[in-house]
Amino acid sequence: MSDLSIKELGSILNGTYQKGALASDFNIRNVAIDSRTLVDPVVTVFFALAGERHDGHQYVSELYEKGVRCFVVSHFPAEFEEFGQAHFIEVKDTLEALQKLASDVRNHFDFPVLAVTGSNGKTVVKEWLFDLLQDQFRIRRSPRSYNSQVGVPVSIWSMQGEADLGILEAGISKPGEMRKLAGLIRPELGILTNIGDAHQENFSSLEEKLEEKLQLFENARLLVFRADTTWIAQQVAKKFKGVSTRLFSWAIEGQQEADLLFGIEKQGQKTRIGFAWDGIQHQVVIPFCDEASIEDACHCLALILVQGWFSSVLATAFEDLQPIAMRLELKEGINGCILINDFYNSDINSLEIALQFQEQQTSSSRQHKTVVLSDMRQSGFPPDQLYAEINRLLMLNKVSRLIGIGETIGKFRSVFQLPSQFFSSTQELLDKHPDNLFADEAILLKGAREFCFEDLAAILQKKYHQTRLEISLNTLVENLNAFRSQIKPGTKIMIMVKAFSYGSGTVEIARALEYQKVDYLAVAVADEGIELRRAGITVPIIVMNPEAHSFDAMIAYHLEPNVYSVEVFKAFYRAAQSAAVSDYPIHIKLETGMHRLGFSKLEELKHLAEEVGGNDTLRIQSVFSHLAATDESLHDDFTKEQYTRFVDLAEEVVSRQKNPVIRHLLNSAGIERFPEFQMEMVRLGIGLYGVAATSAVSVRPVARWVSTISQIKEVDEGETVGYGRKGEVANPKKVAVVPVGYADGYDRRFSNGGGKMWVNGCVVPVIGNVCMDMTMLDVTDVEVKAGDLVELMGSHIHLTELAAWAGTIPYEILTGISQRVKRIYSQE
Ligand SMILES: *Cc1c(COP(=O)(O)O)cnc(C)c1O
Repeated sequence: MSDLSIKELGSILNGTYQKGALASDFNIRNVAIDSRTLVDPVVTVFFALAGERHDGHQYVSELYEKGVRCFVVSHFPAEFEEFGQAHFIEVKDTLEALQKLASDVRNHFDFPVLAVTGSNGKTVVKEWLFDLLQDQFRIRRSPRSYNSQVGVPVSIWSMQGEADLGILEAGISKPGEMRKLAGLIRPELGILTNIGDAHQENFSSLEEKLEEKLQLFENARLLVFRADTTWIAQQVAKKFKGVSTRLFSWAIEGQQEADLLFGIEKQGQKTRIGFAWDGIQHQVVIPFCDEASIEDACHCLALILVQGWFSSVLATAFEDLQPIAMRLELKEGINGCILINDFYNSDINSLEIALQFQEQQTSSSRQHKTVVLSDMRQSGFPPDQLYAEINRLLMLNKVSRLIGIGETIGKFRSVFQLPSQFFSSTQELLDKHPDNLFADEAILLKGAREFCFEDLAAILQKKYHQTRLEISLNTLVENLNAFRSQIKPGTKIMIMVKAFSYGSGTVEIARALEYQKVDYLAVAVADEGIELRRAGITVPIIVMNPEAHSFDAMIAYHLEPNVYSVEVFKAFYRAAQSAAVSDYPIHIKLETGMHRLGFSKLEELKHLAEEVGGNDTLRIQSVFSHLAATDESLHDDFTKEQYTRFVDLAEEVVSRQKNPVIRHLLNSAGIERFPEFQMEMVRLGIGLYGVAATSAVSVRPVARWVSTISQIKEVDEGETVGYGRKGEVANPKKVAVVPVGYADGYDRRFSNGGGKMWVNGCVVPVIGNVCMDMTMLDVTDVEVKAGDLVELMGSHIHLTELAAWAGTIPYEILTGISQRVKRIYSQE
């Protein structure tokens, strides 16, 4: 939050400077690299970074319209005069410029910096150290998992101010990157979490990756690491031999030699960590029992010990460690509200991020936005300034109402210029029956942990049965990018969002895709397209099965038909004429071997092509066909024949048009297996949702289907379970009832061991027949209780496995998950 004048910025970056109408003492407060994450445009400098898919330069005019007046670019925009009021600084490389700025900012830090790197656990270690130490020190840390070449400089910018300690994480994906991060972060203290396979594709060996990571600590005073893996311990020792960096290793008792040994004792869901320090035996307890959490906690503990920060108060703080929810959760709320939960962080950076997410998810400008906010934890700021700053952010984001919870925020109530209410505690609000206080608004719940906003969320959240489909929008984007990397630059991409986006949702998915600048969306029927338009989606949309009765509505909502026959053509032409539109885009489907919809008669096709080519009402935007067997090598010759047939037929259409016509043929498996058939566009479907035909692209399922156990039953020998008495019990069994059945889309073929679910680390079989609304599991050998989470599909039970058990294909499983299963979206 410290200001920088444009003059100073110019001299730090040493670029060519084009002055606008602003005074040169104009001050910058924010750095933005993403057009979505704009908080306060007027005082923002935008760095136009050229990423693999987005080029920041494309957004300059959009940002100018939003009020941004300062840009760092690698070339001035062509229509330079249109940005009369803006300042532009031209540099050779905008990423380098951003890093240069961060480096300058870093020079002014007067607190030591701790850096965390390693393959896993970086964010957890950083956040836990913050939680453990925040009462002792004023700490500034990088937001979420901002740890890349871009994330680190942005973090450094956001960490300015007074503090006792800074904590940053550093992540790399290829050689050469750590050198740059090390130059920016310049850590005094370091933690190396572990070395695993993550991002291994760009390194020739694990050793090479470790060597790269260790560069971060070359000038550090202290490095904490785990000594249990011999080669890591040896390589660290070798690298730092004869250097002044102090190495401090820890290990689990009974395995390796180390400076500090931890005795691990698991007790149910908790773990006791014992150790000797200064000749005295101590212990801490953490509320986790998985290996990753134990390792993360040991790293925190080792650093705290060697720094001399340990105390009995701190020891008890370990018991309160929470899982780090790095995601903002979006849920359906009561009374027509949407609910955004973000109650594990309460610093100002994360408030900014959450406000942006709220804006993105608010369905229309008419919907009210309410923010429920607890006292803020922000070390190093006088509270009057802090709350004034929060007020500014809320006003800027056009928040309609603030509900403040806590003593401090209440004390500063007079700084807030928007309608607001204050409560001294969460309980006080709960006592006021909060279910009557909210209707038809987008609510952001943002509070520090001790305010227990989860209790409030539980009331505001719409109650539906416990079975839900969790959709990760991040994974969706990763999958999209994995496929994009397979297609030639310039080839357009159409995304199939038909059938409720293969079961994963309509508007939320389309919004995410629109932001990713996909070229086309495809729906099955007009109604699906209308829903998207009503939600404000503006990407071109093609309707695959247009029905004559909906043509007028399609034109009104600018939906483009798939024209697959002369009849459809004639009817649509009439509708277009009576709507008096011109140059209306249509898409021509050709039959090449699938024998489904499409033109197969050459004469008909030529005639149509000529007719459209010569009139002004319609325009053939694209011509396409569908391949019958792209995922089966057995039929590759047939696929190639289809391609040849398509190219010939398409030419009959294309050659008769004045405008360029897009040709497209490939579905997901086709993109993977026949890159040479891409032409001007491809159509991505199942691959986006996480199923690939080959290992050429690595994708993950976007959806996780979960439920919770309703009840546990002991069933005696000789009894049976469920309808038809199919589940026979030979030995006494423990059975769990899960509230999901074939009415939810859980296939009845999963009955009697045909299907399995995952619970508490074990994969367990279905016992008896799947019922309409319930399924029973044999959990005899598993420790479970009512309320435990069950995964039906996700990272433990893979979608393709589920499909195989049911003797079907992933498409049917996904699209069969019924609408009553609530979809919940998350975005990191
Ligand atoms: C559904 C569909 C696709 C996408 O197929 P995937 O196998 O899911 O990639 C492509 N083209 C057409 C015409 C479709 O109907």
